[in-house]
Amino acid sequence: MPELRKDPVVDRWVIIAPERADRPNALLRPLPESDGETCPFCPGNEVMTPPEVLVHPGKAGGWSVRVVPNRYPALRTEIQMSRAGNGLFDSTAGVGAHEVVIETAEHRKSLADLPAAQIESVLTAWQERMIDLSRDLRLKALFAFKNQGAPAGATLPHAHSQLVALPFVPPALADELRGARRHYDDKERCIFCDILAQELRDKERVVLETEGAVALSPYAARSPFETWLFLREHRSSFESATGQELRSVADALRTVLRKIDVALDRPAYNLLLHTMPLRESRNDWYHWHLELKPVLTLQAGFEWASGCYINPTPPEEAAGFLRQTETAP
Ligand SMILES: [Zn+2]
Ligand SMILES: [Zn+2]
Ligand SMILES: [Zn+2]
Repeated sequence: MPELRKDPVVDRWVIIAPERADRPNALLRPLPESDGETCPFCPGNEVMTPPEVLVHPGKAGGWSVRVVPNRYPALRTEIQMSRAGNGLFDSTAGVGAHEVVIETAEHRKSLADLPAAQIESVLTAWQERMIDLSRDLRLKALFAFKNQGAPAGATLPHAHSQLVALPFVPPALADELRGARRHYDDKERCIFCDILAQELRDKERVVLETEGAVALSPYAARSPFETWLFLREHRSSFESATGQELRSVADALRTVLRKIDVALDRPAYNLLLHTMPLRESRNDWYHWHLELKPVLTLQAGFEWASGCYINPTPPEEAAGFLRQTETAP
């Protein structure tokens, strides 16, 4: 049974998930060689996963996107929320949700290989699940993320992303919310809209501009080729994104992923969604976005010790290089 434990010194929750114990060294192993026959995410092998919670129909009676509960969940919805204290130590049952979004029926395609309409269908599946999970009032924040390639944490080669809903707002998001709120209290403007305006004036760190979206290398990028993707229009929550908005993000994301594949020879990467906590109404101060981080360097002791990052690639250089990278249409 998964459990959440709070570090007694700093404000940090950790998920203790013994059911995932058969995979603690997943990062250190190469991805298993698998083909359409043994792959649990391939059409025909649907019985190898738990029953689906969402499916988008595909060609000839098949499916194009499938969402299933994770077979090795870090958190579960069906347990009672019970908080406990034992002297210094606080814990709570691992209430949450952990789902897998199978992004395509085709075993060998990566997200970047898919047409924009299929990437849009993946984003729509994230959104549909998010809206459904937000009905569970115990859940506070939802993360959609993708680990592409073994060095980024993937344990299966078939293209998929994951959704994790948590019963608390974790520090990385809480820090962003706090910073954005502080800027708004000061200036009555969204800090992300301000960043976009400045970056679009300077152009130095802009990777891609489309009619609806902008991708840029953040000023204080933590790692080489870290890239953020925004809608130009101010929108605080992914749940209320329109079809048109998801289309423009899907389109820009596809181009960015393809540029990164060409420029860096199909690197492993992490992609994640930052959006408002569940059920929080639209506001003028937070702006949802995607963050993409190719895995090119290993995090070392210094990062672990200090929470600071050392990035050997100036974001201006990364942006310039990606801007000039041509991709096939
Ligand atoms: Zn497969
Ligand atoms: Zn904004
Ligand atoms: Zn963010």
